[in-house]
Amino acid sequence: RQERYKALRDVAACTKDGQPIDLLMNAGLLVDLPQLEAAGAAGIGLFRTELQFMIASTLPKTSDQERLYASVLDAADGRPVTFRTLDIGGDKVLPYLHHSPEENPALGYRALRLALDRPGLMRTQLRALLKAAGGRELRVMFPMVTDLDELRKARDLISREFKHLTRFAHVMPKRLKLGAMIEVPSLLFQLDELMQLVDFVSIGSNDLFQFFCAVDRGNAQISGRFDDLSTPFMRALKDILDAGQRNSVSVTLCGEMAGRPLSAMALIGLGFRSISMTSSAIGPVKAMLLDLDAEKLHKAVMMHLGDKHPRQTFRQMLEEFAAAN
Ligand code: PEP
Ligand code: MG
Repeated sequence: RQERYKALRDVAACTKDGQPIDLLMNAGLLVDLPQLEAAGAAGIGLFRTELQFMIASTLPKTSDQERLYASVLDAADGRPVTFRTLDIGGDKVLPYLHHSPEENPALGYRALRLALDRPGLMRTQLRALLKAAGGRELRVMFPMVTDLDELRKARDLISREFKHLTRFAHVMPKRLKLGAMIEVPSLLFQLDELMQLVDFVSIGSNDLFQFFCAVDRGNAQISGRFDDLSTPFMRALKDILDAGQRNSVSVTLCGEMAGRPLSAMALIGLGFRSISMTSSAIGPVKAMLLDLDAEKLHKAVMMHLGDKHPRQTFRQMLEEFAAAN
């Protein structure tokens, strides 16, 4: 099997009925970069910048951050890279940063919430990103956005850094694209407004599902209890895709489900044309989509989502489709 996946590396990621799909990879450290070539990824859909901070014993210097980001862009060699700003707090605590104990860390002081309260940290990172991407395209997205004001504040921080660096005659990115992660259900009810503020959105399905079902993603006793291939979650994802289309904003998904072939199949059936996953999943997902009639699946998916009295679950429908095609 490994051999078969390797042989697929240079085969275009395209469904049987001719729909090209961007298969991107998730990364976070220098050691991940060789996988870009090895897996034949179309780019990096999620670069988790907090990993550099988590393996360090002190706060990484701006120059070290800049060096890492430049190496990532060099390795990508023109393929798109989406950097996510620091997603710390929750289960990702930095030993050298004071953090008060919390009863519900997943719902607590984390990610963008913490970053906006400590703008020094965030501004340093944004400056490192802007400098590293001089003359190239820079894509930045913000984690755990909950209300639009947070997004406006984050955008303000980046434009301030942009102006500051321009004043000092630094070479600025050729293009700057800003995005939001959709991980908190509050965004599902303000999708059109959200889309006015961003160039792209990326669904963090790990967290979105955790909050959607109120089920702790890290608690083995219950994390598998509810199905992320169930009708309500699929409807939520479809709503996001529709809003993206209405507003000409690209929508991608970078949670772990993108790397499970059956889930990836569901996503393509819903209408996703870009998904980001752990690099080892690219081969298996590509093998699945080369055999997939995306239009036929789309019809089956839409029929199922609109059916008030389905004879089977969404997952069963998918499994049946996979077996019959
Ligand atoms: C997610 O929540 O789906 C996601 C991609 O981010 P992380 O797993 O790093 O929280
Ligand atoms: Mg997340």
